[in-house]
Amino acid sequence: MSTIDPIADPAADAAVRGDDRSHVFHSWSAQALIDPLPVAGGAGATFWDYAGNSYLDFSSQLVNLNLGHQHPDLVAAIQEQAGRLATIQPSMANATRGELARRISEIAPDGFSKVFFTNGGADANENAVRMARLVTGKRKVLAMYRSYHGNTSTAITLTGDPRRWANEPADASVVHFFGPYAYRSPFHADSPEQEAERALAHLEQTIILEGASTIGAIIIESVVGTNGVLIPPPGYLPGVRELCDRYGIVYIADEVMVGFGRLGTWWGFENFDVVPDLITFAKGVNSGYVPLGGVVISDRIAAHFDTVSFPGGLTYSGHPLACAPGVATFEVFRRDGILERVRDLGERVVRPRLEQMAARHPSVGEVRGLGLFWAIELVRDRQSREPLVPFNAAGADAAPMAAFAAACKKAGLWPFTHFNRVHVAPPLIISEDDLVRGLDVIDRALEVTDAEVA
Ligand code: PLP
Repeated sequence: MSTIDPIADPAADAAVRGDDRSHVFHSWSAQALIDPLPVAGGAGATFWDYAGNSYLDFSSQLVNLNLGHQHPDLVAAIQEQAGRLATIQPSMANATRGELARRISEIAPDGFSKVFFTNGGADANENAVRMARLVTGKRKVLAMYRSYHGNTSTAITLTGDPRRWANEPADASVVHFFGPYAYRSPFHADSPEQEAERALAHLEQTIILEGASTIGAIIIESVVGTNGVLIPPPGYLPGVRELCDRYGIVYIADEVMVGFGRLGTWWGFENFDVVPDLITFAKGVNSGYVPLGGVVISDRIAAHFDTVSFPGGLTYSGHPLACAPGVATFEVFRRDGILERVRDLGERVVRPRLEQMAARHPSVGEVRGLGLFWAIELVRDRQSREPLVPFNAAGADAAPMAAFAAACKKAGLWPFTHFNRVHVAPPLIISEDDLVRGLDVIDRALEVTDAEVA
């Protein structure tokens, strides 16, 4: 699958497993029930373990590794910055941080010149909400069911999926609403246009019943990520914009997963004819080489804080070692035409191939996506659209998806699966050959899920 031929090193494998099992308390896990893969190294779209296996990374780790493993330009930028000035506190000016903020504002819509840096996506959303509340003087925030916004106090409350449940109640001022999801329309719509129209009517009712005078912000992933790669129907996001304008609400676009090229555009919202008020980002800004996130702020909102202090910031906000690979990312995108190749590979290679899979495999209900961000939704029955595994399935209930993932891994592909879906989200630098070979693996592995429905 790649030119890398990893060497088995059983002693290292045992040592890494030993320390990890004994001393690392893993996120999102029942500690005794997990068996984390010890990873020895990576290059480009591939990584490998200590047992002699390599994997084509079709998940970009957590959909952050946009420029792949060990990109030489990003590594060099970190090394150069470390040699010059490893760290400096956020309240001092720094050349690398300033350059990155300028580069980000240059790709933002007109009227966005300021960037507030954070350590990741969750705290970007926390701070965007904080800004909206301070500017509007209104505390409530509306967020979608089937969304993920991070795992800190307000961000996890905003999250509209089961990851929220164990953390409730954290922020009492969050209200959820249904967004569009044409394949499983909560609005019983027959067309994308009707889905948009009804979803907007539902959102407006929510605003009216919650009280526009109490709502400071609406936060929306421009394309819903971990909850299904849900592409908003035409007119939906512009309709949200209109409602925000009508009712004096700040529109926060969560671009943590789709920003920085995942859809073949700098920002996800560019595809949907809309301009938000605040844009949150993380992940792809520097491929996650060093933790970094932030909020791009419209000048109208930024002006509020000209003479009023903004009460946000952490010791490491805008860390130079994180900003350096961010600056390098801009160079790589420009030099290597990353946005163009993502659009090309998405339309020319991925879309037709997934559509063929949908036609061939009875377990595929729908495929959808844009750029290098796709979902294959698996069902027991195409007519009823019953999901292949139940919502929030775990253990034995999730076995068909586990079997699919195991088949992929055996064939050298690291997949991204969530509930009844397979997401296709390889690094944006993946070669066309590797992309095709990865899709071949998925195509074959779908025979495992077909067997469930036969
Ligand atoms: N928002 C979205 C859309 C995400 O996908 C994520 C993470 O997956 C987050 C926010 C949280 O980002 P982080 O894990 O960097 O805090």
